[in-house]
Amino acid sequence: MLCTGDEILSVANTHGFAVPAFNISSYSMLRAVVDACEEKRSPHIIAIHPDELTHIGTDMLASIIKIAYTSSVPTAIHLDHGASYEQVLLAIQSGFTSVMIDKSFSPFDENIAETSRVVRAAHAVGVSVEAELGTIGVSDKYGETGSEEILYTDPDDAQRFLEETGVDSLAIAIGTRHGLYPSEVKPELRIDLLAEIKDRLRIPLVLHGGSNNSDTEIASAVHAGINKINISSDIKAAYFLKMREVLTDIHLREPNVIEPPCEEAMRECAAQKIDLFESAGKAGLY
Ligand SMILES: [Zn+2]
Repeated sequence: MLCTGDEILSVANTHGFAVPAFNISSYSMLRAVVDACEEKRSPHIIAIHPDELTHIGTDMLASIIKIAYTSSVPTAIHLDHGASYEQVLLAIQSGFTSVMIDKSFSPFDENIAETSRVVRAAHAVGVSVEAELGTIGVSDKYGETGSEEILYTDPDDAQRFLEETGVDSLAIAIGTRHGLYPSEVKPELRIDLLAEIKDRLRIPLVLHGGSNNSDTEIASAVHAGINKINISSDIKAAYFLKMREVLTDIHLREPNVIEPPCEEAMRECAAQKIDLFESAGKAGLY
């Protein structure tokens, strides 16, 4: 069932669970996350970052939309970290049902202005919008960017931002980082801050950089009001760790032999996240 981001997240907001948003950038990875969510009866969001979209090409959206349509579980197709109005328009035209505009590095008023512009365009054609306030950190130089220093989201700013933009969901900075954490870094989430923002805004809140945090921290973030958790590094690490092992057999060359065990490793990792986010079985609520 193809859904908008808002259709997926409003149910999660009412029932207090978090929907997984798995980033994919190949057909093999797409199949792995879709299978995991169908097996677990979990609603989910197929997340595609602009770099990933450049890699797979917008032509692949036709297949993704068809898979989402015929899937037995609610599925949204989401542009992750849209950097500009133009990128968002391309995504909307390609068939995404949810977009993120990330102007969190711009001054506050500019973030409000650009997000409002995106909200007006996206809502005119029934597409949901996620924005970001505060800055999420970065742990390694691979994949998504972030800030050296985490700027925590201010609850007053968040309230004003929501009132002025009319955004559907908001990614907040409460101490996570994109990528995998170096061993000396111990992430600590500000659950108190999350609870305060949730109490004031009451809309679906989003956690980025959710790979590699402790399970207990993620579980308490879900209980305090996070309704969407982005997972990219963890599932891809599982996929390629298995691929390295498979490719120790130097004679292998067929994707239909090499990829299935990697997909299985990715499915296992995704299934564990679905359980942690309390999203298993929730497809029945839609
Ligand atoms: Zn992110």
